[in-house]
Amino acid sequence: MSDCLFCKIAAGEIPADKVYEDDQVVVFKDIAPKAEVHLLMIPRQHIASLNELSVEHDVLTSHMMRLLPRLAREQGLEQGFRTIINTGEGGGQEVFHLHLHLMGGDNLPGFN
Ligand code: AMP
Ligand code: ZN
Repeated sequence: MSDCLFCKIAAGEIPADKVYEDDQVVVFKDIAPKAEVHLLMIPRQHIASLNELSVEHDVLTSHMMRLLPRLAREQGLEQGFRTIINTGEGGGQEVFHLHLHLMGGDNLPGFN
């Protein structure tokens, strides 16, 4: 999608503080971190939200899930981490390109 912020980050058209990338996903630091460690994992492919996921994305979603603990370890989060996926306006989603928040360390926010 030409006007999608996270598609532009995935394509390198907008700078981001990337910590990991491969042929399927890009991971970068949230620009307004809500915890000591706050990363965003996005698929390279434009998928607007969890609502648009289908069986064709099963390999991708499995890859993303299994990457999370590895990235958390690399960020020093041996004690654990939190993942959040906001979906739709009612779920607080602001950027409509699927993204997983990976958070941990000091100042880990609650759900309120
Ligand atoms: P959400 O509310 O789940 O859609 O979260 C969107 C997240 O994207 C927020 O935590 C923002 O701080 C973050 N964000 C917005 N623009 C950028 C950007 N250019 N680079 C990194 N993170 C961003
Ligand atoms: Zn996109």
